[in-house]
Amino acid sequence: MERGESILWQNLSSPELGELARMGAVAIVPVGAIEQHGPHLPVGVDTIAASEVARRAAEEIEEFPVVVTPPVWWGVSPHHMGFAGTINLSTDTLIALLTDICRSVSKHGFERILILNGHGGNAGLVEVAAQRLTEGPEKVWVAAATYFRMISEELDAIGESELGGMSHAGEMETSVVLAVQPSLVRMDRAVDEPRRRLTSFTKADARLGGTVYYPLDLRRDSRSGVLGVPGVASAEKGERILQAAVDKLVAFLREYRELPSEYA
Ligand SMILES: [Zn+2]
Repeated sequence: MERGESILWQNLSSPELGELARMGAVAIVPVGAIEQHGPHLPVGVDTIAASEVARRAAEEIEEFPVVVTPPVWWGVSPHHMGFAGTINLSTDTLIALLTDICRSVSKHGFERILILNGHGGNAGLVEVAAQRLTEGPEKVWVAAATYFRMISEELDAIGESELGGMSHAGEMETSVVLAVQPSLVRMDRAVDEPRRRLTSFTKADARLGGTVYYPLDLRRDSRSGVLGVPGVASAEKGERILQAAVDKLVAFLREYRELPSEYA
């Protein structure tokens, strides 16, 4: 088996996974969404991105093993249901899925688990799932992160669009898919429709999250299903964005693994 293949949970045997747990492997559970991303991107963007960041980070770490579970392909996307192709989970379903998966992974001896999210609509919920897992009866401690929230400063340096250009299906996500799987991008159909900031407190884009949360409804907030500027996207920017996320994730995983046992 190639190293890249042996990082994926579904490719390994039961004894191999048992051995990885004994070696103190960190497990990453990617989660994304199946939701419309305008006329130019596939509906799987968020899961593709989270899985790619997880896989690259796992490959980069040599000093301890990192294993990536199959991703949770679906997320909470009621705000995209007005457009064809979106498959929506209720918030309770997503939290139940994530907590069941993490409990199973933990049961087999993995003491360090990270839920790695790639979808804005899941960002609060992955934290809720981590919190729910501490409620018992058997407490499980997991970490939760949304990859693009870890790199807002780097996105600021990489982005060329005005603020509002790096939200849903915009400069960031289009660049990432151009880097990972360019055959899935139809740039000739890309529409620039920057995200309009509702108030000075709410989210502008991935570079500036805002301090007040207010739910989106893309049928209300966008004509095309895009909230951003895909027109300035490039594969080269996508590589830089992915590498920035991988660098942050690798740094976190190294510190996470060093936490004392009461955090396991
Ligand atoms: Zn997305």
